[in-house]
Amino acid sequence: QSLPGIGARYAKLLGELGITKVSHLLFYPPRAVIDRRQLFTTRQLKDNELATLIVQVQAHKKPPRRGLPYRIITEDEAGPLDLVFFNPRGDWLGKSFPLESKRVVSGKVQFYKGRPQMAHPDHVVGPERIDEVLGFEPIYGLIEGLNNKGLRQAIRYGLKEIAQLPEWGDISLIRQRHWPEWLEALQRLHHPENAADIAPGSVARQRLAYDELLAQQTALALLRHHQYSVRGQIHPVNQVLRQKLLAALPFRLTASQHRVLAEIDADMQAPKRMLRLLQGDVGSGKTVVAMAAMLNAVGAGKQACIMAPTEILSQQHFRTLSPLAEKLGIRLTLLTGRFKGKAKAEILRQISSGEVDMVIGTHALVQEHVVFKDLGCAVIDEQHRFGVHQRLNLSQKGVEVDTLVMTATPIPRTMVLAIYGDLDVSRLTDKPPGRKPVDTRLVDQKRLDEVVAGLKREIDKGAQVYWVCPLVEESDMLVLTAAEERFKELKKIFGARVGLVHGRLKPKEKDQLMQDFAASKISLLVATSVIEVGVDVPNASIMVVEHAERFGLAQLHQLRGRIGRDAKQSTCILLYKSPLGPIAKQRLQLMKNTEDGFVIAEEDLRLRGSGDVLGTQQSGDIPLRLADLEHHADLLAIAHDDARLLVEKDPYLKTARGQGVRQLLVLFERDRAFHYLQSG
Ligand code: ADP
Ligand code: MG
Repeated sequence: QSLPGIGARYAKLLGELGITKVSHLLFYPPRAVIDRRQLFTTRQLKDNELATLIVQVQAHKKPPRRGLPYRIITEDEAGPLDLVFFNPRGDWLGKSFPLESKRVVSGKVQFYKGRPQMAHPDHVVGPERIDEVLGFEPIYGLIEGLNNKGLRQAIRYGLKEIAQLPEWGDISLIRQRHWPEWLEALQRLHHPENAADIAPGSVARQRLAYDELLAQQTALALLRHHQYSVRGQIHPVNQVLRQKLLAALPFRLTASQHRVLAEIDADMQAPKRMLRLLQGDVGSGKTVVAMAAMLNAVGAGKQACIMAPTEILSQQHFRTLSPLAEKLGIRLTLLTGRFKGKAKAEILRQISSGEVDMVIGTHALVQEHVVFKDLGCAVIDEQHRFGVHQRLNLSQKGVEVDTLVMTATPIPRTMVLAIYGDLDVSRLTDKPPGRKPVDTRLVDQKRLDEVVAGLKREIDKGAQVYWVCPLVEESDMLVLTAAEERFKELKKIFGARVGLVHGRLKPKEKDQLMQDFAASKISLLVATSVIEVGVDVPNASIMVVEHAERFGLAQLHQLRGRIGRDAKQSTCILLYKSPLGPIAKQRLQLMKNTEDGFVIAEEDLRLRGSGDVLGTQQSGDIPLRLADLEHHADLLAIAHDDARLLVEKDPYLKTARGQGVRQLLVLFERDRAFHYLQSG
């Protein structure tokens, strides 16, 4: 609203486009460009083509009845042109088109009964202002209530507000790529002359994308440098505990579990702080790796914790790890939001006094009143559910805490860089042996009755089934209604063997249901996507997903990972509502054809574009406005290396270039990172 002509109402509309600052306006790239350079006469007009003309107003023809258009008859030396308006407002036409006056009009021409006409011209000005119309016009993405002219004007005012800033980029790179200076790049972005100028590959766009990625990567590099590259604790592998753990497991570690563990051990033994991302598909066995890492810290006399995104998952980790901890003589406790009053106070006391070695919990762990005696290792499970800040808060519960973040979302390498910056990455690439591939079938929702009949036969033979209800437009309430209705219907058929689990249940009720399912007391579990992450019931071998076409592929992949967890043949039935569009069909086919999470992630990225994968929910971070990772992945790698070098050489951004980069960080709202510059 600091710009002329932008009031509260307009600002609100811009807000819907994610534009809340002047800089956001400048970083809003046009998505097309129209060439209005040529001035036409009526003789040159062609059907369905754009034209700009100077015409003289001859007559106004008011509509004879409602529903018909208002016509303004105009002409130039060569012939007539009718201007056509539906539902004109007030006296706007009378004022804009006085009889006998000359007007510049520009818009699409169509022939009607042999006469050229122009409906709702894009531009109408007096001949003295013809220069405003002739030329190239950038076209911006709009929403109801905004028009291109107004938005363009706002951007023009915005461009006037900015000054030449010191160069922050790598000079040799900029020369080599023939990139313009920042200010010029912005000017060019908003003054395109052809489609190539606004394409992601244009020099202006590349330059700006690099700037944005440099800001992002510098912020991450600063975080990394000042938070993690500092000296860390030494946590050597405690061989006694390690051997006891391996002996207590009912299985042998897979080759990739061994490899990943060796990488973790190396980090923890070294006098630097571990910051490692462990990627592994659902069911690849991350939990036991986490346990081994935590034991390194506990063996060195420290405490360790693991944070999971849901109550159910924390419970499950607690159930899996408790018997192991007992065998190893490790004191383990659970802390989640359900503990209140005295019980909670007692747990907090045990944590702060050091009476427990290991804590499992939800984000209740990052609350202020949780104080560890001496936290040495923090594990964050299913990282994509947490923001960067929750991750930080947890590792700030101790001094130089070794941190392991785990995710089953098979994020492609470029995404890892963009979201996490300079993190070490380990991958579990194989699965525990003895598992059969899941048989995935695509079934039309119309055949629901057949599916239910088939389930009945299997359940009678002892099978256990997850039934996942559809996502409904972001609303918890609607998801719940759909799930409840399905539950009622299935109950008519399966009676007490059906359970319903959803996000609004009390933690105790939820746990009870999950336990009943794990103990086979329930055969069919109707669920909203609360089962999405981590839940482990190996006997469950069938999954039905309603309206599978509404789910993201990564999410479907996670869901399907709940089954196929032992040697039994598992089946996943993806119900879809026909007809499916071509992309939706391709996506579901992909699910049918592969179980490789990395393939699914890459394909999903390709089919949907980068927007969703990098959505704020995933990254807990600031959206990218100018860079598009599908097209600028090479720039991401360059910006990453550049930022890392810069921060290594100039960790407090004091040099001339460092000063420039400070400006860049402010521009792209990464100035939270300034926090790390203070001590210098
Ligand atoms: P995720 O990576 O999805 O968190 P989990 O750690 O929950 O996977 O492991 C899935 C299942 O596989 C668990 O039941 C676990 O006990 C089992 N498991 C883990 N590692 C192995 C292994 N090396 N051999 C056999 N089973 C294993
Ligand atoms: Mg897990």
